[in-house]
Amino acid sequence: MKLISKFITVALVAIGLSACVNTQQMNAQAESQYSQFKQKASQLGVLDTTSSTAKRIHQVFNKMKPYAERENKTGVPFSWEVIVIKDKELNAWAMPGGKMAFYTGLVDQLKLSDDEIATVMGHEMIHALNEHSKAGANRGAVTDTIFGITGAILGDINLGGVSGLGALKTYAVDNVFSRSDESEADEYGLYLMAKSGYNPKAAPGLWTKMASATGGSGGFFSTHPADEDRQANMQKWLPQALEYYNAR
Ligand SMILES: [Zn+2]
Repeated sequence: MKLISKFITVALVAIGLSACVNTQQMNAQAESQYSQFKQKASQLGVLDTTSSTAKRIHQVFNKMKPYAERENKTGVPFSWEVIVIKDKELNAWAMPGGKMAFYTGLVDQLKLSDDEIATVMGHEMIHALNEHSKAGANRGAVTDTIFGITGAILGDINLGGVSGLGALKTYAVDNVFSRSDESEADEYGLYLMAKSGYNPKAAPGLWTKMASATGGSGGFFSTHPADEDRQANMQKWLPQALEYYNAR
């Protein structure tokens, strides 16, 4: 289903991004999309700035932000930002340039600890830092002209089930990252959370929670690695992550 809709989107959109996309252009485009999304969410009253969940997400984000920027090898400083969307969807995403969103459902329904929030945060930050959207953008893949969203830029983004945001969902494109990008986001996200002072031992359990909550399919997680692969990798990466964590 997803594949079909992706092909239809590609077919519908003849123009796409024809020229080679550089970091500045990509970040600027993402930033403009992000502010539109934020505005829409605000109009719909789903921008959560006050709940204890929102506060915790911002806390984790603020703690990780300087460490994330330290890993920025793009040559362009990011303007990091996170917004919290009041919605039951188990969802989180990051745009190029460090514009992120977390959905309350992810944290509340899965009862995430701060270490677990940091696991997802790290994963998403690495997608942005390692510019996983760039390959897709340079392929001219999946551009949506109606809302002006470049699917390749959106990456992990599934705008979710927020009722009024349903219109946006139509224009959003599901995950376009490759399996190796996902694996890279897992690995370096784990190191990033550890360097930021969050216990990487929380990561394997978090991914298991995610997998069982989603039945391994649907939305954000459908294109992410199978839980068994993920667990095996986590065990491989944990010693290095713990070194970072304990060196603090
Ligand atoms: Zn991902």
